[in-house]
Amino acid sequence: TFAYHKFDPSKAATWKKGEPVPYLALSNTLDSVSETKSRIRITEIFCNFLRTVLAITPEDILPALYLSINSIAPAHEGIELGIGEGSLVKVLAEASAKTVKHVREMLKKKGDLGTIAKSLKNKQSTMFKPKILTVRNVFHEFREIATSSGKNSMAKKLGKIKTLLVSSRETEPQYIIRSLEGKLRIGLGEETVMASLSHAVTLHKDPNASTQKLKEAEEQLKVCFSECPVYDQLVQTALKYPISEWTNHVHLKAGIPVKPMLAKAAKGVTELFDRFGEGQFSCEYKYDGERAQIHLFNNTVKIYSRNMEDHTNKYPDLIEVVKKAALSTTKNAIIDCEVVAYDRETCTIRPFQILSTRARKNVEGTASIKVAVCLYAFDCLFFNDVSLLGNDLLTRRQELNKAFQVLQHEFYFATYLDSSSSDEIEKFLNESIKGNCEGLMVKKTVGPGSRYEPARRTVNWLKLKKDYLLGVGDSFDLVPIGAYYGKGKRAGLFGGFLLACYDPDNEAYQTTCKIGSGFSDEMLAKLSGELRGNLIEGPKSYYEYGDSVKADVWFEATQVWEIKAADLTISPAHRAAQNILEQGGKGIGLRFPRFVRVREDKQPDLATSAQQVLDMFENQDVQKNQKRK
Ligand code: ATP
Repeated sequence: TFAYHKFDPSKAATWKKGEPVPYLALSNTLDSVSETKSRIRITEIFCNFLRTVLAITPEDILPALYLSINSIAPAHEGIELGIGEGSLVKVLAEASAKTVKHVREMLKKKGDLGTIAKSLKNKQSTMFKPKILTVRNVFHEFREIATSSGKNSMAKKLGKIKTLLVSSRETEPQYIIRSLEGKLRIGLGEETVMASLSHAVTLHKDPNASTQKLKEAEEQLKVCFSECPVYDQLVQTALKYPISEWTNHVHLKAGIPVKPMLAKAAKGVTELFDRFGEGQFSCEYKYDGERAQIHLFNNTVKIYSRNMEDHTNKYPDLIEVVKKAALSTTKNAIIDCEVVAYDRETCTIRPFQILSTRARKNVEGTASIKVAVCLYAFDCLFFNDVSLLGNDLLTRRQELNKAFQVLQHEFYFATYLDSSSSDEIEKFLNESIKGNCEGLMVKKTVGPGSRYEPARRTVNWLKLKKDYLLGVGDSFDLVPIGAYYGKGKRAGLFGGFLLACYDPDNEAYQTTCKIGSGFSDEMLAKLSGELRGNLIEGPKSYYEYGDSVKADVWFEATQVWEIKAADLTISPAHRAAQNILEQGGKGIGLRFPRFVRVREDKQPDLATSAQQVLDMFENQDVQKNQKRK
């Protein structure tokens, strides 16, 4: 239970009513969060901070929230901080009157520039008292830093960072640096923020609100956020309306992307019957391209990626396609699709590798486009002002058919099969592979599990790939965090890489394999070149690895690679899932890993999670058989 009743926001505030919230109040809160392990206590600490802001300076609640989750705008606006380590080292050295070499040496030893910034700044004596940093001002400066572009913009950015650092004190420098790096790493996840915010608003209105009421607020706010992930709207609505009305005011809207629903891996056709029951599921082709959530409204088309980034500029050719495919009665809609490369002469889907050769951004007009694409629509989330998230898949498919029509070579509905025969499903799977698809997506069609659940990876959607049937397992999406120098033919390049999965609970990258194969020479040269631009002084404090796999050089976590492997084993060298595995610090390692491709559509924190690695480890037949014994 929460100890909220003892708390009085007006007594807790370290600033005066109506005055801007000092940044120190926020950085101290983040510091307390980082030192706390219990989820309940973290929720309490953060909630009480938000309550104080609401009681004393309510107009600062949004910047305070954004800074706490380390963002400066809703995800789909694509405004992000992420200043390279090299630049930050330089500014920090200047701001603390030290040499770059000195800061680099410290970084090699400690791995965390944030704590270095704190210790350097706090040792420094200042002649005069710098101006106090405020939450609204830091937020404003961060936005300026993230958005300024053009000539001399880097120098301007660094100038602003220096000014912030010079004025910073106590815990402030640590969190300024970490925010600028793009990672706070204090264990304040989205779930906790949602819980704290819902409690804060409820207690702000009624300090004696019951635990049950707080729970209700939490549930409702999560629903709102999954449909409309924009804090501005959430806070406004939560403050203005009673809990029971929140979902009436914040819901799915054309123009604001939602996080897509994801699938779990199935190992074979029999699993489908175990999971779903006969007649309750449908198998669709799993197209191998790029996910696109397409919003059509006011005669405008917006295309959002798997990460809710705006990719409209990448596909100017699809804008007209979507408008033409929409029926005249369609005022607005949100559909879930896969974009694939397509050969119009042979009427066939082309492999993913071809799609990945298309320019990534700002394609000007359609004339320069060499790779034609086609859309395969598989779901409808919203149609003519009505959200369909709560409807079953059959209904959503019907609505999709009411909203759009097939356009040869340009817009199709995903091919599907409803069958209770495993032979037929097996045949359908083989056909999908022959058609350059990855396999099947098998989905629950009716009943409670068949609604569209944004952001959830559930067993109501299962992916069935040919590889799994051969016992090779699903592929992994891993982050290269280090590399080894190449020898012989690979001299001058990197000969191998150290790859990690991501543990979101501890915000750590945990190694799971070394890899040296699967690369063409060309690819190896390209990747070596790209990663060379992300070199850092030494491993970050949040990289977890065994001594025996220590890399020659270390990288910033920036890329995600798809990797296939033969199987998984417990390994003393690696650290994947070490906290959940509880095997005395051992982790899970991949055997015989092979590079497949770079996942351009994933950021490092969307890499395969430690829990997923563990699930796959436990799902191996060997493990299952051992458990049975
Ligand atoms: P992860 O690797 O984290 O699981 P992913 O992006 O690789 O994520 P999967 O869960 O493997 O996604 O598979 C789902 C992906 O398959 C979707 O994100 C989508 O891009 C693609 N896809 C292709 N055809 C379909 C379909 N018919 N229904 C749903 N998704 C499809």
